[in-house]
Amino acid sequence: MLSPKLAFLLLLLHAVSGSAYRWFNWQFEVTCESDAYIAPQNELAAAKFLKEQYHEGSHIKVVGNGHGFGNLTTCVDNTLTKKPTYIVSLTNLKKLSIDKKNLTVTFGAGWDVDDLVQELKANDLSFGNLGVERVQNFVGAASTGTHGSGSNIGNIASQITGLRVLDSQGNLRVINETHNAEELKAFRISLGALGLITELTIKVQPTQLLKKTTKVLNATSDFSKMYQELDQLYKEHDRMTVWGPHFDWDENTQSWALEPTYFLSYWEPTDYTGVRNCTLNYCANGCGDCKKEYICYDEVTDAVSCPPQGVCSRDFYAEIEHFLPIESYAEAAANYTTFQQAQTPRMKAPYNKQMVIQHRTLKGDDTYLSPVNTYNLGPESSGVFAIIEIDWIQEYNNFTTLWQNQELAHEFLPQFGETYNVRPHWNKMSPPNATYTLEKFPKLPEFLAIQQRQDPKCQFVNEFLVQQLGITRCADYISL
Ligand SMILES: Cc1cc2nc3c(=O)[nH]c(=O)nc-3n(C[C@H](O)[C@H](O)[C@H](O)COP(=O)(O)OP(=O)(O)OC[C@H]3O[C@@H](n4cnc5c(N)ncnc54)[C@H](O)[C@@H]3O)c2cc1C
Repeated sequence: MLSPKLAFLLLLLHAVSGSAYRWFNWQFEVTCESDAYIAPQNELAAAKFLKEQYHEGSHIKVVGNGHGFGNLTTCVDNTLTKKPTYIVSLTNLKKLSIDKKNLTVTFGAGWDVDDLVQELKANDLSFGNLGVERVQNFVGAASTGTHGSGSNIGNIASQITGLRVLDSQGNLRVINETHNAEELKAFRISLGALGLITELTIKVQPTQLLKKTTKVLNATSDFSKMYQELDQLYKEHDRMTVWGPHFDWDENTQSWALEPTYFLSYWEPTDYTGVRNCTLNYCANGCGDCKKEYICYDEVTDAVSCPPQGVCSRDFYAEIEHFLPIESYAEAAANYTTFQQAQTPRMKAPYNKQMVIQHRTLKGDDTYLSPVNTYNLGPESSGVFAIIEIDWIQEYNNFTTLWQNQELAHEFLPQFGETYNVRPHWNKMSPPNATYTLEKFPKLPEFLAIQQRQDPKCQFVNEFLVQQLGITRCADYISL
């Protein structure tokens, strides 16, 4: 029989060499080496795991589907720490129950957005709002404030009415509109920093159809004029996304050539009862024939978002997405576009293909870390936010080009943040700066107090969170 010491050494050896797990995000630029990938079978097993790891002070990074453009899911690399470090996925937590009377759905953290869409559809129910794609895990998507477009609709986290969460000691906390209601404002968008959310309850609605109208517009290099026109259209249509203007990389001039046209879609309620046909044209990823005028009708999720079969391209791309009070939209959009053009001569890396500027709107809310939180708005503000997104798409998955474009993308926030009260989309190229974060998220101190209670030994943080949120007590999180 092996001596206990030898058995322990063998176990350690196995932990070091046998079961190491390398994590990558969807486009492989976020990566880290953990000791293992842990996927507990249920909430109880997750709590037990946390309880055991608390004594070790192990590093724990809970992940969804890794569909981000930033470092939220980076684990503490095992080359940097003597403590165990784990990637934890709650993918096996698949319980689901539907309360048709109160129009709520309660589900385990393992549910992905698209699977939930199908389950709701089968029960004649629907989400009130959704992002453009459905590739995310629902908790992962909500935890960063994922959203669609609409001046009267919130991000998907705003649908959450309750949740169950495990702290770093494995203790369970139940938070909902009657129990710890104020804390819901912290937990709806929690960036994985407040513990493992094991279950969510969200509001849903009876199946509704929307009419989607798509129009082609002429682009002009007079950006002020173009965006003033869009600003006007946002006053006419409360639920509208603008895809464009589009620019194509011109090899000869080494610059971006403006495409003559771009398009927008707006959605309206309808009493239509005929064939549902919006999924005949997938335009979230440039799939399908998008630049054409058409009208379609569909159940709300299929009218506003793209199912996995509609995703035809996974080329690398860099992206920024910034939220700002809608009152500054036209001026800001013109200045963002001009600033991008000023960056063009520095885009020396090869394989640029297309640049798309997208525009949306979103209703403000009171979630502490929501990019559309209304805590620092003045009385002149309507509480509606405009969203400006820029995507730099490559013709080939080349890291040099990706990293170059990401570096340049980081310059937009310092350039415009103060002027337009800009908040970046979490998980999308937000440069870490705790002073800035505090200014735009005045409830950050309240969030950090809960973070300390949930994670006293700094096991849930990574470098990005420590720097971005200014979690100074965790500055030495690797060695604590
Ligand atoms: C191709 C593509 C399309 C996108 N489209 C949109 C869009 O239309 N609209 C939009 O707003 N955004 C969009 N995004 C951004 C995307 O929705 C967010 O980055 C989202 O957070 C990714 O979800 P995920 O499941 O992959 O989560 P991950 O990236 O894996 O994790 C996100 C965060 O959630 C935390 N987390 C995950 N699970 C748990 C849990 N159980 N408990 C506690 N914390 C947890 C993680 O720690 C991390 O901080 C898109 C991204 C990509 C790559």
